[in-house]
Amino acid sequence: MKKILITGGAGFIGSHLCERLLNEGNEVICLDNYFTGAKSNIVHLLDNPYFELVRHDVTMPYFVEVDEIYNLACPASPIHYQYNPIKTIKTSVMGAINMLGLAKRIKAKILQASTSEVYGDPLIHPQTEDYWGNVNPIGSRSCYDEGKRCAESLFMNYHQKNEVKIKIARIFNTYGPRMNANDGRVVSNFIVQALKGEDITIYGDGTQTRSFQYVDDLIEGFIRLMNSDDSVIGPVNIGNPGEFTMLELAENVLKLTNSKSKLTFLPLPEDDPLQRQPDIRLAKKLLNNWEPNTNLNEGLKRTINYFKETI
Ligand code: NAD
Ligand code: UDP
Repeated sequence: MKKILITGGAGFIGSHLCERLLNEGNEVICLDNYFTGAKSNIVHLLDNPYFELVRHDVTMPYFVEVDEIYNLACPASPIHYQYNPIKTIKTSVMGAINMLGLAKRIKAKILQASTSEVYGDPLIHPQTEDYWGNVNPIGSRSCYDEGKRCAESLFMNYHQKNEVKIKIARIFNTYGPRMNANDGRVVSNFIVQALKGEDITIYGDGTQTRSFQYVDDLIEGFIRLMNSDDSVIGPVNIGNPGEFTMLELAENVLKLTNSKSKLTFLPLPEDDPLQRQPDIRLAKKLLNNWEPNTNLNEGLKRTINYFKETI
C-alpha cells in the first residue's frame, strides 16, 4: 500500500484518479480548494477509511508524508482559468514550487499534470514532445499556458539540481463523467445543450480540431507513467490521436442524443488553437505499449449517460 497525495483531487480528472488508486489498495489524500472541483465528485469515497479529504490551496505550503504526489490542482477550462488569471498563474507556479519542495523534503515521486497547451497554436502537426510550441506570452490564454510551461521548467530544475524524481504528462483534451455541466469546455457544453434542446454553440466556423481522450485512458496512462522506471521523466504526450473538427463533434453529439438542437455560430475566442493532435509514439514506447482504447462514440455515450442522470 502506497500513500498518495492528489492535488486537485476533487476535480473531474482528480476524482477518477482518487477512485482508481483507492481501488488498487492505496491510501489517498485528496487536496482541493473547490474552485472548480466539488465534494460531490468524491462524496462516494468518503466512507473509505483509506481516503482523506483536505481543504487547502496549493499556493500555500502543505506538509504531509507520502510516497507519491500527483499535482493536478489548476482550473483547466478557459472560462475558469481566465476568471482570475493572476490566481491561475499562482496556482501553477507556486503550487509547483510548494509540491516540488515537499517532494524534495520527503523524497516522494511527483507527477505533473501538464497540458497540450504548452504547444500553443501549434505550427507542427501532430505535436511531438520535442516541439517547443507557439504560445502568445501576453494573450488571454497565457496565464494557463505560461503557468504550465513555467511549472514544467520548475519540475526539470528540481530534477536536475535536487534529484527529485519527476514525471511530466502533457495531457490532450480529456472528457468524461464528472465534468462540471457549467465547465464551459466543448464536450460538456455540447452534450448539455443537446440534452436540454438548446442551441449548440460553435465558436468560429467549427473547422478547428481537437483530439478527445476518454478519462479512463488518461488515468491508465498516468498510473503507468508514475510506475515507470525512474529514468522516464517525460514530458510525455497522453492523448487520443483521433482528431475531429468541432462541427464533427457537434454532429456526433446530436446523433447520440437524438437531439433536435440547432447549431449557432459565435465568435472564436482569442488565440484559440486551430488544430491539436498528439503524437503518442513516445508514450507507447515508454509506457508498456500504452494507447487509448475508448473511441469517441463510446466515450461520448458514457458521458451522455452521466449527464442524463445529473442535469
Ligand atoms: P478541474 O477544473 O475539474 O480540476 C482542477 C481541480 O483543481 C479542481 O478540483 C479545483 O478545485 C482544483 N484547484 C484549482 N485551483 C486550486 C488551488 N489553488 N488549490 C487547490 N486546488 C485547486 O479540471 P480537470 O480537467 O480535472 O484538470 C485537472 C488537471 O489536468 C489540471 O491541472 C489541468 O490543467 C490538467 N489538464 C486537463 C486537461 C483536460 O482536458 N481535462 C487537459 C490538459 C491538462
Ligand atoms: N468550443 C466551441 N463551443 C463551445 C466551447 C468550446 O466551439 O461551447 C471550441 C473552442 O473554441 C475550442 C474547442 O471547442 O476550439 C475546444 O475548447 P475547450 O474549451 O474544450 O478546450 P481547449 O480550447 O482548451 O482545447
